[in-house]
Amino acid sequence: MNILVINCGSSSLKYQLIDSETEQVSAKGLCERIALDGRLTYQPTGGEKEVGDFPMPTHEEAIQLVLDRLVNPETGVLKSLDEVDAIGHRVLHGGHKITSSVLIDDEVIATIDEAKDLGPLHNPANLIGIKACMKLMPGKPNVAVFDTTFGMAMPPKAYMYAVPHEWYEKYHVRRYGFHGTSHSFVSKELVKFLNLDPNNHKVIVCHLGNGSSVSATVNGKCVDTSMGLTPLEGLIMGTRSGDIDPAVLEYIARKEGKDVFELVNILNKKSGVFGMSNGLSSDFRDLDAAAKDGNELAANAVQAFCYRVAKYIGSYAAAMNGVDAIALTGGIGENGVGERDKILSYLGYLGVTIDAEANKTRGKNQIISTPDSKVTVAIIPTNEELAIARDTAMLAK
Ligand code: AMP
Repeated sequence: MNILVINCGSSSLKYQLIDSETEQVSAKGLCERIALDGRLTYQPTGGEKEVGDFPMPTHEEAIQLVLDRLVNPETGVLKSLDEVDAIGHRVLHGGHKITSSVLIDDEVIATIDEAKDLGPLHNPANLIGIKACMKLMPGKPNVAVFDTTFGMAMPPKAYMYAVPHEWYEKYHVRRYGFHGTSHSFVSKELVKFLNLDPNNHKVIVCHLGNGSSVSATVNGKCVDTSMGLTPLEGLIMGTRSGDIDPAVLEYIARKEGKDVFELVNILNKKSGVFGMSNGLSSDFRDLDAAAKDGNELAANAVQAFCYRVAKYIGSYAAAMNGVDAIALTGGIGENGVGERDKILSYLGYLGVTIDAEANKTRGKNQIISTPDSKVTVAIIPTNEELAIARDTAMLAK
């Protein structure tokens, strides 16, 4: 089946056309600056990349431009749009009702809309993409794959906050977890790659990128994950604080006369390693280079990031009463040789020993612990688009 995977942001849209049988990408690209000046990138596999400026006042024109490229007689990869079998949409928040990927109907649309208070930046944009595809390709099955559904398997002891129960009853305040598509994909790949028993394993996945999170999975089911009601909780991230004493907000509100909206915005956009490095960068390549040049704030930010990851690994190993394997993924997990080394250096008590040579690997499945390491550690590149295509093919059949 030809599955068109769409990841719609507020002013951008990433897409891939994936053959679900071969799991190969036929074409991919993105539309940027939607509603501004509009820029389209189209890359057919094995063909030349096209980049151009095109007016795209709304997501509908952007998707139409993509569809035109896919069936272009010279550079397209399809003869007609009839060859698109289904469309898979990445959706941020499924709210408290949705626990798995679903075929989209009016009820699902209403549920995604209802959850927009929990995903105010993403859910409205995701819906725009869904509605545009339904209009431009009527009658095709559309599937929603949510960032939150993997975490919906957590037990109450992991997802409930220690706050007045009526907040849960009235507003569904609980931990949901995000990056679920990645955690689900990588944990399954890890089990396959290491030949672990699908029905008897305990694994930890560290998704380390601009946004970062850790998950604990027992026998294919998520038992805990570090993000919460929103993606702000947990690890230190590029610009997000992760875990913090909420009383800091009141203290700074009083000192600087800021309200809670402004302060949470700062925790989301001006904190993390960016804030810790005094605004130097949210990109670990910049921080690593600055640290090498003697910038102490940059060095501390990277150290604090790795330390927090190691603490989460420790707490999840304890929560599961052991761990068989750990996977590292995301831009930092797949490429950050120094960061991996720092994180794993905390795990001697688990019997983890690192293979320094293997740890130089970037961007492919690779065991980076030594053969005698008590816990196997591996790089497993994530592929959220493929995960979305797999779920879409399964549901659209
Ligand atoms: P992602 O959000 O998964 O695309 O990851 C993006 C992040 O990966 C960037 O912000 C970088 O901090 C990080 N990254 C990419 N390459 C490297 C590298 N070679 N070393 C360390 N971090 C890297």
